[in-house]
Amino acid sequence: MTKRLGIFGYPLHHSLSPLFQQAALGALGIDAKFEGWPTKPEDFAQAVEGLRADDCLGCCITQPHKEAALELVDELDPPAEAIGAINTIVNTDGRLKGYNTDAPGFIRGLRESVGFEPEGRSALILGAGGAARGIVYALREAGVSRMAIANRTEERAQTLARDMSRARFRPDAISLDVDQLANFAPYADLIVNATSMGMRGGSADEESPLPPELISGNAVCYDAVYVPPVTPFLEASEGAGAQVAGGLSMLIYQGAEGFKLWTGQDAPVDVMFDAIPPTMRGD
Ligand code: NAP
Repeated sequence: MTKRLGIFGYPLHHSLSPLFQQAALGALGIDAKFEGWPTKPEDFAQAVEGLRADDCLGCCITQPHKEAALELVDELDPPAEAIGAINTIVNTDGRLKGYNTDAPGFIRGLRESVGFEPEGRSALILGAGGAARGIVYALREAGVSRMAIANRTEERAQTLARDMSRARFRPDAISLDVDQLANFAPYADLIVNATSMGMRGGSADEESPLPPELISGNAVCYDAVYVPPVTPFLEASEGAGAQVAGGLSMLIYQGAEGFKLWTGQDAPVDVMFDAIPPTMRGD
């Protein structure tokens, strides 16, 4: 029986997951089809119930469903519970377990694309939405020593900082105001754009969350946005002499984690990267 996998989201214009996941399934000879499942919020709960079928291995989840999905599974992987969002569900004999693979996918992407080792380093995270939650959690677990979270809606940054605080890790929470950013950005070893600023088709697709003069040439700058491969934030960071990487590595590695959970096999990540059209890889 051909097994089913897919990605839920709405809208689902830019998803590259069906492309690279299908390539990986094919490369390992796994009889499964990975589809795009555009699903409106009002239809999402019923669609998740459909994952319990015998022929379904599970799914990926993207916005706007990552938080709603928490309530729809039978069990949560502990990091997913701490992060407060899931992007992967595994179906085992009709029982659904939720995972957040954005967090390990981000750390692996950071290490493999720019060789950044977070332990003992300082970080500035721009954004406080779903992606930022996974990234802040991942960096905390990887041993970052100091962190500031900056968000357009400052209260959301405060909530995220509070949620992720523990004994020796208490992030500062600020707005995107230039004067506040100036206290952190020039001194950060790592700056991550986890806002949707710079994302093609978004409301701020030509904007960067950070003025270029605040970016240090010593920083590593990572953009979670992967369409386009070079965003205004990365362009400015490169101009400042910083080491830069776009979000494609996070996308592939979060998918690789999911692949292993669904199939029990290590994902062929080279096949996954090769499946991405060169224009979207920034080649
Ligand atoms: P989200 O939960 O909707 O959060 C959006 C974030 O962007 C919030 O912090 C929001 O600030 C901020 N924002 C949006 N428009 C803004 C504007 N005009 N000016 C300033 N801030 C603005 O979305 P998400 O899931 O976190 O995704 C964020 C980005 O990460 C997206 O581009 C997504 O494609 C990307 N992403 C990439 C991967 C990957 O694998 N590479 C994985 C997940 C997400 P407010 O709180 O003030 O609204």
